[in-house]
Amino acid sequence: MNLLKKDILFSDVNKLNGVGKKLSQYLKNRKIEKIKDILLNLPYSETDRSKLVDLDKLEIGKIQTIKVIVKKLNFPRIRNLPNKIFCEDKTGKIEVVYFNSREGYLRKLFPINKWVIISGKIGFFKNKYQVTNPDYVTTLDKEKYVKKIIPKYSLTKGINEKKYRLISDQVIDNLPEVKDWFEHQFLKENNFLSWRENIIALHKTKDSQNNRSKAYRRLVFDEICANFLILSENRKRVKKRKKNKVFKSIIAEQILSNLSFDLTKSQKKVLDEINLDLRSNFRMFRIIQGDVGSGKTIVSLLSIANVVESNYQCAFMAPTEILARQHFDLAKKIFKKNNINVEFLTGKTENRKRKEIINNLENGKINLIFGTHSLFQKKIIFRNLGLVIIDEQHKFGVKQRSELAKKGGDDCDVLLMSATPIPRTMIMSLYGDMDISKILEKPKKRKKILTISKPEKKVDELWPFIKKQIKLDNQVFWVCPLIEESSFIDYSSAKKKFDIINKKFPNQVALIHGALEKIEKEKILDQFLKKKIDILVSTTVIEVGIDFPNANLIIIENANKFGLAQLHQLRGRVGRGDKQGVCILLFKESLSKNAVKRIKILKSSDDGFYIAEEDMRLRGFGDIIGFQQSGIKNFRFADPVVHEDLFILAEKYIKKNKVNANEDKFNFLLKLFDKAEIINQRVD
Ligand code: ADP
Ligand code: MG
Repeated sequence: MNLLKKDILFSDVNKLNGVGKKLSQYLKNRKIEKIKDILLNLPYSETDRSKLVDLDKLEIGKIQTIKVIVKKLNFPRIRNLPNKIFCEDKTGKIEVVYFNSREGYLRKLFPINKWVIISGKIGFFKNKYQVTNPDYVTTLDKEKYVKKIIPKYSLTKGINEKKYRLISDQVIDNLPEVKDWFEHQFLKENNFLSWRENIIALHKTKDSQNNRSKAYRRLVFDEICANFLILSENRKRVKKRKKNKVFKSIIAEQILSNLSFDLTKSQKKVLDEINLDLRSNFRMFRIIQGDVGSGKTIVSLLSIANVVESNYQCAFMAPTEILARQHFDLAKKIFKKNNINVEFLTGKTENRKRKEIINNLENGKINLIFGTHSLFQKKIIFRNLGLVIIDEQHKFGVKQRSELAKKGGDDCDVLLMSATPIPRTMIMSLYGDMDISKILEKPKKRKKILTISKPEKKVDELWPFIKKQIKLDNQVFWVCPLIEESSFIDYSSAKKKFDIINKKFPNQVALIHGALEKIEKEKILDQFLKKKIDILVSTTVIEVGIDFPNANLIIIENANKFGLAQLHQLRGRVGRGDKQGVCILLFKESLSKNAVKRIKILKSSDDGFYIAEEDMRLRGFGDIIGFQQSGIKNFRFADPVVHEDLFILAEKYIKKNKVNANEDKFNFLLKLFDKAEIINQRVD
């Protein structure tokens, strides 16, 4: 048979024999649109029809292949009774049963006293072996078409296994030779098969069923490389030349000398990295990763000082109004003596003020603006925006990240900040197009938050403790997994808890959760910040960035419901002032082994990066917070936990070989994973 042409793999599935309109629609619904998608639709299991089984060794309920001699055919003349063929081998007997089959057809298929090969599911009825409507019946000379290990693909109704296999075999059995994008030597060193061999192995062996198998790993490596190639290409585009910038740092020096603390080594290092970017002729596209409380804000403000001093404007975006305001207040304080015009814009800014701000951004009178995403509406035009900063970047998603970068034009630096520590493999996959600065250490003075776990039934012991804390002028968070009681899940709800606590501490408690209007939420947080209430009962809405210097106790109910990284984020809401922070995790009594492990990790460490790695190890890739929101599609085959070594290998390969996504040889790879078009579309 002739091998397929390489390019036909990228044509519509309806180009295959036997795929008509209906079938092609069906396949498309199952995400098989192009012929190459058949290659990526891996079998999940297989049917072993390869071995002939003696009739006295048959296993009921299994698909098996037998070699038998046809003894007798019986065609009852009564409607609805099945036709039967009686067969035997030297060890036993079996009946082959057919409903709705014609006599002539069966007589041809089962010639009396001839040997036949039959393959099908073995049944047992009235003390006799039976096989009903067998999948295959053939003469001995054609046995090789039956005696095979046959891959099983996940199919729902609409297409049967045989039909699908007919289609997929057309492709797999005639797979074109494709020149591999990896060198022979590289494949050998890493125990990879060549591309063609590999696809065949995935469909014809059990390798597709084990994500650590040789063939599966090559597929995963291809997928990761396709992904990283796009990121590295994107990076090259973003880091285009920018206008030369004057660079001054007098104001930053002044601010530094007025701070009540010294920067940590990590902060200094990151600041140096940023300043190098600001001075360079290439655009900055950098993310600061730093755990909760590692001091990202001051680093960003010092960078701003340098940009503003060099006569460029800065825009600072935060995901919530409170957070934006907090940064704004701090900036006003810090820049007070420096004649820097700082403003604040959100959806709530009143009309006259808004107009004035928009005006002054355009004429350049405003040097620095803080706000929520409303900063990036069309109407807002900057005179000479030099730096854009986004705090808690993961809350915004990729699209906003790109819109924002565009706002600054081609020569505007971009700095993102994220307090969600992400495991190494994830960083590469999500931010492979950016430079990464990590703040690894936390300010030395900070006390480690005391983390305690307690069974739920001892909750009454907490009330006196809370009372004492409030007396000491501390504030308390109480976190529940649900907003309302549910009859399905046995978790605590914030509403119910609020009622209980409100009875014990009247007029001292407020309730906040995600179902409230954003304005309402911000109002409540603001009251808490201003210490008008002592206890805030909430769901996880309090997770992000806000500094409540006076909150020192957090109680988290059903703590096993939350992932480690999320618990760490929640815990980071307290102990931000000088006092000792306390985090109490409440549990149901019986804890799984896994849950016990998680508490142990959380108690022993306050290193968000370590916790994130452990979290991913324990819970897998899909659950990492921030990932869902980020809008980046999951890998289809690669799993950052199982295939960590391949992620690292891919990164090395791309760096070492200075590969270029536009090289011809990668075109096929990118098309295979639907990435070729992204190269033309994505700008940043
Ligand atoms: P995050 O990285 O979570 O955004 P922040 O920037 O809000 O953290 O900083 C948390 C607190 O730590 C702030 O009150 C800040 O003033 C303080 N801080 C920042 N850097 C230092 C430092 N080097 N030494 C002591 N305190 C610091
Ligand atoms: Mg912050």
